[in-house]
Amino acid sequence: MPATPAWPPNSAPRLFIDQPLGDGMELRIEGGQAHYLSSVMRVRQGGTVKLFDDRTGEWLGEVTGVGKRDLMLRIAARLREREAVPDLWLCAAPIKKSRIDWVAEKASELGVARLMPVVTRRTVVDKLNGERLRAHMIEAAEQCERTALPELAELTRLDALLRDWPASRTLFFADEEGGKPMLEAVREHPGPAAILIGPEGGFDLVERVAIRALTKAVPVSLGPRILRAETAALTAVSVWMAANGDWT
Ligand code: SAH
Repeated sequence: MPATPAWPPNSAPRLFIDQPLGDGMELRIEGGQAHYLSSVMRVRQGGTVKLFDDRTGEWLGEVTGVGKRDLMLRIAARLREREAVPDLWLCAAPIKKSRIDWVAEKASELGVARLMPVVTRRTVVDKLNGERLRAHMIEAAEQCERTALPELAELTRLDALLRDWPASRTLFFADEEGGKPMLEAVREHPGPAAILIGPEGGFDLVERVAIRALTKAVPVSLGPRILRAETAALTAVSVWMAANGDWT
């Protein structure tokens, strides 16, 4: 007797729908999402699609019609509630385009709640294509099965970030010149957190002093080697997630 396949099939495509979803709702999918479903994922009438809206959770959609440029779905059941995302922000200086895209995608997969691009004195990139970054984060959330999207904050200058820093949130300052071993520091500071990663050129002395002057700042080391900014971001988030996040 063949095992009954899991339902919905884990292979069911998954889409973020930017409107509140509800049981029995009829949805018309068009544009790039329709192309992805019908041409890339070859979804057919009677097929299933997982949908999430970053508000009510994840739903199962049944394909009730496939047109040339659109698809009709009917929402059949709620699969999961919207998750509680670990309360970690990643504050990172924008680095070269392809690399900040990569950081945004990895931070989304790793469960970061908010990505905050921070302009520092040695940041080589001072403008950011938020639309492109947000698209990468949505795609990562669809792939890794998040039911809550990570937020993307506006580009902020370091001095403004420090000036407005929330009193209840620990800022783990990844300092390439040294600090407390990250795992030890994370274990000593449970609760809402953020990680600050510098640009390819690192932080300068004035910035280092200003960051360390913040009461909630905890300078941390990510080991004896100098990591690329994107490596440092990924590594620091992973250490935090393993110790204080939702990997247990
Ligand atoms: N240009 C600098 C290094 C910058 S690395 C130099 O050569 O010294 C980019 C960022 O990654 C740093 O600002 C820091 O936030 C982080 N980083 C890299 N290696 C690190 C380490 N071993 N410990 C803590 N943070 C590190």
